[in-house]
Amino acid sequence: MSAQQWIHCNLCNAQMANKDTKFYHLSCLDVLCRTCMGKTNRGTTCPVCNNSLRHFTELGSSMSRKEKMLYHSFPVGLYQMSYQTLLFQHKQRKRLVESILKTRESLKRLDELESEIKNQVAQTQRKYENLRNHRRSLQENMRQTVSSGGGERNIGDDFAAKDVHAYSVGLSAERELSPT
Ligand SMILES: [Zn+2]
Ligand SMILES: [Zn+2]
Repeated sequence: MSAQQWIHCNLCNAQMANKDTKFYHLSCLDVLCRTCMGKTNRGTTCPVCNNSLRHFTELGSSMSRKEKMLYHSFPVGLYQMSYQTLLFQHKQRKRLVESILKTRESLKRLDELESEIKNQVAQTQRKYENLRNHRRSLQENMRQTVSSGGGERNIGDDFAAKDVHAYSVGLSAERELSPT
């Protein structure tokens, strides 16, 4: 087992990495160096917490699986991995939420644009209807004027000329507005 920086004697603070000696894991979850093991009253009492000891094991391959887990570097690696995973997934989630919000916003704008266009189409349609009615009444006026003819010719000519002008204006406006 490779000595990790944090492993130290809980009594004299000697670090396992710096000291060429054996270390022991105690059943009370304290750690002692070989020297301080001499203060356990023949392995019965922990000098750190004063609890009686059920057992102690030399740090290394003779430890139980459960004890080894406590010294494994795995939890640190797992934590770092979890942290990176968490950051990555958080970023991904944030990105997703942002794009959903953006899409929702542009959908709202599209809806507004659509109703605006509908309004404009309706307005244009009304203008077109008005012009068509105007043209019809002008045509009717012209027809009546032409068919009446006779003595009031000058007045009728003036009236007709004016109406023809208005009629052509109406026609060109209608042509602009006509959907075909
Ligand atoms: Zn010690
Ligand atoms: Zn102890």
